[in-house]
Amino acid sequence: MSHSDSRASITILGGGIIGLNVALVLAERGYGPSITVIAEYLPGDTSVRYTSPWAGCNFSAISGTDTNALRWDRLGYAHLAKLATEQPRESFVRRTESIEYWDENIPHDKIKSMADYLEDFKVLPQEDLPEGAKFGVAFTTLTVNAPAHIQYLQCRLRDEYGVRFIRQKLPGLQAAFSNPTTKVVFNCTGNAARTLPGVEDPKCYPTRGQVVLTRAPNVTKNIMRHGKDYETYIIPRPFSNGNVILGGYMQKGNGDDSTYGYETEDILQRTTHLHPQLREQTFEVLSVASGLRPSREGGARVEKDEILVDGEKRSVVHNYGAGGTGFQAGYGMALDSVRCAEDLLRHVPKSELRAKL
Ligand SMILES: Cc1cc2nc3c(=O)[nH]c(=O)nc-3n(C[C@H](O)[C@H](O)[C@H](O)COP(=O)(O)OP(=O)(O)OC[C@H]3O[C@@H](n4cnc5c(N)ncnc54)[C@H](O)[C@@H]3O)c2cc1C
Repeated sequence: MSHSDSRASITILGGGIIGLNVALVLAERGYGPSITVIAEYLPGDTSVRYTSPWAGCNFSAISGTDTNALRWDRLGYAHLAKLATEQPRESFVRRTESIEYWDENIPHDKIKSMADYLEDFKVLPQEDLPEGAKFGVAFTTLTVNAPAHIQYLQCRLRDEYGVRFIRQKLPGLQAAFSNPTTKVVFNCTGNAARTLPGVEDPKCYPTRGQVVLTRAPNVTKNIMRHGKDYETYIIPRPFSNGNVILGGYMQKGNGDDSTYGYETEDILQRTTHLHPQLREQTFEVLSVASGLRPSREGGARVEKDEILVDGEKRSVVHNYGAGGTGFQAGYGMALDSVRCAEDLLRHVPKSELRAKL
């Protein structure tokens, strides 16, 4: 039985990959015309306060090993694989051969879980590992052209599902309830969750990465090496005319938005050493950027909460703290967020408009 109120609506605060995935899950269930996404930054923008355009971006074993992270990865892989099969060019998601090496701290639980579902998964024999590496796996990953993928999501949400986008910086979470018809707010504010009034989560912190965007069309393979004090990766960017992202760093607690020449040199040295295809021919450096992964002690926060707005209890679903995994885990996190809000969503009208994927 539906208890829907024809005016009830949904607000999503944040237009990064996390907010866009929540909008997608809700829109796929028919709520598109009832959704408003409010964000200071939207796809197409660049800012150090907007992490999503800076992602590499691939599916990898760097995520956590708690049950949530394992489940989100599995759901995210299935989601991205579907996009890569059904609309690779439109969504800028592609299947890519991948290798990951570990020098130490081999995440056995993660590997065991991933071995179940990753396409073409195999453990590499010791003789195939580079010097100093203790363990390695090969599988088919999904690579994502991050800035183009978020633009694809925004267009699809707006044009196929009727989602509204409003560019606005809110002074606090309470302001997301300014429309009296709002039944629930999804808080997808990334790094801002640490300071945004109404959230102010002290567990949040940035993890800085510097990346070098290059043009190296001969590079077809994704390679990552996880070291004790370094993270080296080479990710060919899908449907980008041969661009490749070279990285990088995982600098916990570092919120510096500058880029450094010595880090660029270090990245170029490590990546050319690791990837044979980068040594085959010279390549052009196009730009250097730094991005801040919205990290959180204990992992991402996906849960329902209540806050007081003008003395009244209002419902919010938090969904932030994706760290270095917003693209691979975002769809699974969105499914959990929407599940948290199921009782509230019964009041929100559904539309017949349901785009087919
Ligand atoms: C170098 C680098 C490499 C990465 N590589 C990968 C990878 O390979 N794979 C992967 O899965 N992930 C990767 N990531 C991580 C991924 O980019 C993040 O997990 C993801 O972008 C986080 O998305 P988000 O939506 O939480 O945050 P954001 O993209 O930062 O979005 C936050 C949104 O909230 C809005 N907002 C905040 N406060 C307010 C306010 N007061 N009013 C209005 N709007 C507000 C912002 O404007 C923005 O729209 C990488 C990140 C970096 C930096």
